[in-house]
Amino acid sequence: TKNTTNETLLKELSEIDRLHHIHPSTNPKFHRDNGPKLVFKEGKGIYLYDLKGEEYIDGVSMLWNVNLGHGNKELAEAAYEQMSSIAYASAFYGYANESTARLAKKVASLTPGDLNTVFFTSGGSESNDTAFKLSRFYWELKGYKNKKKIISLRRGYHGVTVAAQRATGIEVYRNFSGSLDPNIVNAKPHLTECEQGDKNHPEYEGSIHSIIEKEGAENIAAVIMEPIQGAGGVHIPPEGYLEAVRKLCSENNIHLILDEVICGFGRTGKMFGADNWNIVPDLITFAKGITSGYSQLGGVAMTDEIGNTIAQYDGMLPHGFTYSGHPTACAVGLKNIEILERDNLVQHAVEMGEVLRQGFEYLEGKYSFFTKGRNVGLLGGFDLMRSPEENIPFEESVKAAVTLVDECFQRNLLIRPFDFEPGMNIVAVAPPLIIEKDEVEKIIAIIDDSLKALSNKI
Ligand code: PLP
Repeated sequence: TKNTTNETLLKELSEIDRLHHIHPSTNPKFHRDNGPKLVFKEGKGIYLYDLKGEEYIDGVSMLWNVNLGHGNKELAEAAYEQMSSIAYASAFYGYANESTARLAKKVASLTPGDLNTVFFTSGGSESNDTAFKLSRFYWELKGYKNKKKIISLRRGYHGVTVAAQRATGIEVYRNFSGSLDPNIVNAKPHLTECEQGDKNHPEYEGSIHSIIEKEGAENIAAVIMEPIQGAGGVHIPPEGYLEAVRKLCSENNIHLILDEVICGFGRTGKMFGADNWNIVPDLITFAKGITSGYSQLGGVAMTDEIGNTIAQYDGMLPHGFTYSGHPTACAVGLKNIEILERDNLVQHAVEMGEVLRQGFEYLEGKYSFFTKGRNVGLLGGFDLMRSPEENIPFEESVKAAVTLVDECFQRNLLIRPFDFEPGMNIVAVAPPLIIEKDEVEKIIAIIDDSLKALSNKI
């Protein structure tokens, strides 16, 4: 029968995987000792099914990327069609193809301001490394030979390639071998007054403003940040912050790179996170949501000033990935954006975000330890604290966020905990943009039950 076949298959796959696969962002010893947590079989909409036959709600769109949800046949067909005509064509040496060319134009039309030129990669980390290189290259071409430093934010997440990992301001990621680039400096996040130039502010030291003063604008190529910090714990910038940083960068001849890897392509209820603040950065890095994860694609969009300057370089651009502008990935990207627009999913994210907000509000009223429920569109999160009024966190031993997420897992909801700093207990909720009202309510109901279970343990 179907079930016994799955049982055998589950055993076989678990054993193969346990012995032969080092998983990303996973405890390797735990995996070698215990095997995979589950083995996925298929997905449909917001639901995932494993080989045991369990149905899970994908409450964070896997890695905040499966924005159109699982099992989308239109995306699969777009990939099939492209693969059947020409699956792969290099973009090196000036070779072009229809899907890649059309997607470059489409992205250019969607990005804010005059970010009309695109360089493609296969993911977020590659995009950020590329943005650092292109920014430095631009300054070199303009005669600024020393503009090499990059300022990023503590708690920011930009990926795990050597440069991107150094920019990542989360300690556990920074201590891994090889992740040291002395030209990248982490600043304190989200200090609006400091970035506006208030040098008497108690937190001024370590702000972007103070680092520019210390290092000298002539040595700084770019500032990079996410519009809303994702893997750092869903931190929405305070009012006026992004505007202040934009102004600071402009005044000092420093590029502002917005890492839109999570926010881009509708997640926050706008096409790009930047659109929530009407900010126009100099470069945007994107990945994840452009294909809803159906194919590996990322890229960097840049202003006419940068694009046209680089376009005047009369030599070989010494940068490019085998999969830069991968036709199949680009065909999927085009179809993904077509569906986003056709089905009004960006606006839908605003409406579902409102349902999520109401859910958080309800939970905040019900549990004293549930606090700071927040979201922009369908990028949401909340904190768990012993006493929010007195700003007292849970004791480490309680492992509040991990325990809650575990309770949710037992109730077949997949969401994500963050506790990489002492006292931090944050949980992220970021379901696919195609989610419907009753499904958001189902997520809230499961979190509600799980909070109840947690309250008996703390
Ligand atoms: N930037 C942000 C904001 C991200 O959230 C991520 C991944 O989670 C990355 C960059 C890295 O992207 P990738 O894992 O595709 O290299």
